[in-house]
Amino acid sequence: MSGYQHILLAVGYSEHGDYVAKKAKSLASIYQAKLSIIHVLDNIPMPDTNYGTVIPLNQHSSDELLEAEKAKLMQVGDQLAVDLANRWMLWGVPKQEIIHIAEQEKVDLIVVGSHGRHGLALLMGSTANSILHHARCDVMAVRLQDGMR
Ligand code: AMP
Repeated sequence: MSGYQHILLAVGYSEHGDYVAKKAKSLASIYQAKLSIIHVLDNIPMPDTNYGTVIPLNQHSSDELLEAEKAKLMQVGDQLAVDLANRWMLWGVPKQEIIHIAEQEKVDLIVVGSHGRHGLALLMGSTANSILHHARCDVMAVRLQDGMR
């Protein structure tokens, strides 16, 4: 089998991001592969502590919020020495956009974190699960445990 040539790391909101990122980086080094990263902005509910409600993050969110999201992605990109052209941040449903960019950019391995959910969360499906079932390329699901960094 020939090695991987283009690896795409899906950067989520989890506190385990570093662990997944390091796995992707070491795979890219082993295979001498191009490494890209992607973060998809979806409607994440942001708690509004003043009113006890949630505010959806969307196209109308403040520039500061979007800048903060971009800064997080840039930080990961810098840590992993990913070329600027290979850092993707876009709006949409994470699983769909990740698969779309993977196909567009001819990615042959997607790396995601996976919590191994059970019960209701499993029935509802996770981003990792969905990518695993719908991507045309290989997918590496990095198992995440509570308490890891
Ligand atoms: P989740 O199913 O949301 O717990 O996320 C599992 C994995 O999917 C994360 O570790 C990321 O690799 C990826 N992921 C989740 N949400 C996003 C997102 N908004 N953008 C990019 N990747 C994501």
